[in-house]
Amino acid sequence: METQTQTAEQPQFSTLGLHERLIRGLEDLKYEQPTPVQAQTIPAVLEGTDLMVGAETGSGKTAAFILPILHRLHTNPAPKSGTRALVLVPTRELARQVEKQCEKLARFTYIKSGMIIGGDSFKFQASIFRKNPEIIIATPGRLMEHLEKGTPDFKDLEVLVLDEADRMLDMGFGADVLTIAGRCPEARQTLLFSATMKQKGMQDMTEQVLQNPQTIILNTARDPHENIRQQIILADDLQHKDKLLDWLLNNETYEKAVVFTNTRVQANRLNGLVRYNKHRAAALHGEMTQDERNKVMQNFREGRINVLIATDVAARGLDVKGIDLVINLDMARNGDDYVHRIGRTGRAGEQGLAVTFISPPEWNLMVGIERYLKVKFERRAIEGLKGHYKGPKKVKASGKAAGRKKKPGGKKRQEELGKQRHRDKKNIGKRRTPAVKPQASGGENKTADGNAPVRRKKPAAKLVDAGFEPMKRKKKD
Ligand code: AMP
Repeated sequence: METQTQTAEQPQFSTLGLHERLIRGLEDLKYEQPTPVQAQTIPAVLEGTDLMVGAETGSGKTAAFILPILHRLHTNPAPKSGTRALVLVPTRELARQVEKQCEKLARFTYIKSGMIIGGDSFKFQASIFRKNPEIIIATPGRLMEHLEKGTPDFKDLEVLVLDEADRMLDMGFGADVLTIAGRCPEARQTLLFSATMKQKGMQDMTEQVLQNPQTIILNTARDPHENIRQQIILADDLQHKDKLLDWLLNNETYEKAVVFTNTRVQANRLNGLVRYNKHRAAALHGEMTQDERNKVMQNFREGRINVLIATDVAARGLDVKGIDLVINLDMARNGDDYVHRIGRTGRAGEQGLAVTFISPPEWNLMVGIERYLKVKFERRAIEGLKGHYKGPKKVKASGKAAGRKKKPGGKKRQEELGKQRHRDKKNIGKRRTPAVKPQASGGENKTADGNAPVRRKKPAAKLVDAGFEPMKRKKKD
């Protein structure tokens, strides 16, 4: 397996070997220079090898695979064949974006694309297959349903793309992706894009779908987003967060803002509140119909609303120009989700600001994400809206550091106590055999059901919240 790293010099699109009609399309889109992922991926795809590309959203990865695919299909026309390229993506929104980019880049060619996603009518999608576009962009779930009905025909397939493979695994599409790949000819080219290669199940997937792949690692999700300022503001509770949000929406300079919440309920509540406060807002979450979601996205793109209140799944892959502010009402549940959220801003080199509200229960999570991403979030406070919460209390030094005296009783006594603790631990939850036979009735050693009392583990004293996560015990096989 060959691994490439970033080259210092940036080539131009004209030197990458792409067809002149595609260069015209690029000029039309005003893409002046290839992004690093495009500069490295395009020549490699044109060579025809399988690829594993570590690149984050916003890096220009869509054009990095669409352009060489268009080149291949355009320069080797095969009018009688079925689907020639299949792009699998995790979400409907991402499918729309990929399709849009594909249409724009293919503008001066005769290559057609079709989209197969959940929420659209089955009949309509069957008619897309009948029209036989060269490229199909699909979400795995819906494509599987069509495969079960026998509609698609992938026997002529030349290229399979797994876009945001980590997300597809995350969303439980791993098995579907492998089944779909199994229905494609073996002699195909496969391109796998992922923000991280460490995802659970990734190794299995790469081994099953790729053959002697080249690996290109560019910006992964954990690399710093230099063009995004990342701040946290401490908040006492939800009401405090609501006030902070209103302040930011009133006082920050932004063209478009996305506010993230962890739940649909919260997104709906916040939407009402933000609109009540006279902001042009709308919610976007998974409970809405596809039509509703499309309408919201169109309004946001076209600027009729400028605040989008979204949950993670709904906003995955969301690519809208002019998002320069991301606010996390709740901290994301993990580092990768956090990166995807803030990646809605600062796209294609623009500047962005990401502000996260941290309430007491979220402190540990925030510190964990800082550690995971190797960043230190800028601490920010808003005059007039400072709360009582100032972060965790400092822990007092303990043990030797605090000058504690040696434990009494000597070494032998300590060993005995250690053994006793070990025995106690092993017996947690077990019924204790009474030393004396329980009496027929009464007796303080009995519980209501007549058994000896179950010895319970004394709850561990709560650690002072200091940004430490409790150590997890290793599971035994
Ligand atoms: P992606 O990572 O594919 O989601 O792309 C992120 C954004 O960058 C999209 O809005 C693209 O239209 C834009 N983009 C992609 N390639 C280029 C380029 N070479 N120059 C300028 N913008 C680009």
